[in-house]
Formats: sequence, structure tokens, C-alpha cells
Amino acid sequence: MPFLDRSAQVLFLSELVRGLVITLQYFFKEKVTLHYPFEKGSLSPRFRGEHALRRYSTGEERCIACKLCEAICPAQAITIEAEPREDGSRRTTRYDIDMTKCIYCGFCQEACPVDAIVEGPNFEFATETREELLYNKEKLLENGDRWETELSANISSEFLYR
Ligand code: SF4
Ligand code: SF4
Repeated sequence: MPFLDRSAQVLFLSELVRGLVITLQYFFKEKVTLHYPFEKGSLSPRFRGEHALRRYSTGEERCIACKLCEAICPAQAITIEAEPREDGSRRTTRYDIDMTKCIYCGFCQEACPVDAIVEGPNFEFATETREELLYNKEKLLENGDRWETELSANISSEFLYR
């Protein structure tokens, strides 16, 4: 008798009680939500976040201005200019990435023969203006210096997956 069942549920507020029981159960369960930005989830070593240009431990830039990253970038977000130094080595005089064009495909880091340009673990680089997302060489090297510990650890662990 569906009508009587329904009347009994209304009369004894059984649905309300059931709902309160479920609320109580979840109140004492371990929480699954994170209190971002105070808590953060784990990231894969392959996560492709903000770009950085790395240096060797001597402080010398890794980038040898081969322009492979510029050539492979499907968004044409990278602009490089280069000149030979006095010692004959080739280095960039300009290395820009337009982060508003970038699609975070990771092709640039895959193409780089010396692991100079990489996409690091930083995903918190939102800005208020478009101009702040036009990165130059100085900004990219600064990112590299700031994140080097995490970047080198991620690159080493990536080799384990290959
Ligand atoms: S991640 Fe992709 S789109 Fe972004 S700069 Fe690198 S190659 Fe270009
Ligand atoms: S970042 Fe790598 S791929 Fe790009 S120009 Fe420098 S060495 Fe070549």
C-alpha cells in the first residue's frame, strides 16, 4: 500500500531522521576536501606548469640557443634571438615566452637537448594583467633558480618511468 507507506513516512518524519543520521555519519568521517590554498594535493612529476630556464650547478645557463623549442612550439609562443659569445659559445640574447599563447603541451621541454626549458610544478602564477604573462629570459631564469630543487627531482624521477 504505497499511500499508507507514504503517510507513515510523513507522520513519523522517517526521511528527516534518515537524513540526519547520514549527516552525522559524514560528520565523523575523514574529510575528502582540501583547504586550498593552505592544503594542496599531490602533483605528478610530469605535471606541466609554469616554465623555467635551468642553469648548471656552476651557474652557467644550460640553453645553447639551438631554437628547437621555438621551432616545435605549436602556439608559436617562444621567441629566441641568439649571438655567439666571445669564447665562441652560442647563447640566447632574448628568450621570450608569451604565456597567454602557451597551451602547456610540453613539446618545448621534450625537444630541448639539455633540459634547459622545462615546465615546473608551479601552477599558482595567475596575474592581473596580460603583460605580466609575457615572460622574458630574466623571468624564466629566475623561475629556474627558484624551483631548481623540485625541477631536478622531477626530471630524475621521470627517467625512472621511461
Ligand atoms: S608548452 Fe607547448 S605551447 Fe607552451 S611554450 Fe612549450 S611548446 Fe609552446
Ligand atoms: S631551451 Fe633548449 S631547445 Fe630551446 S633553444 Fe635552449 S637549448 Fe635549444
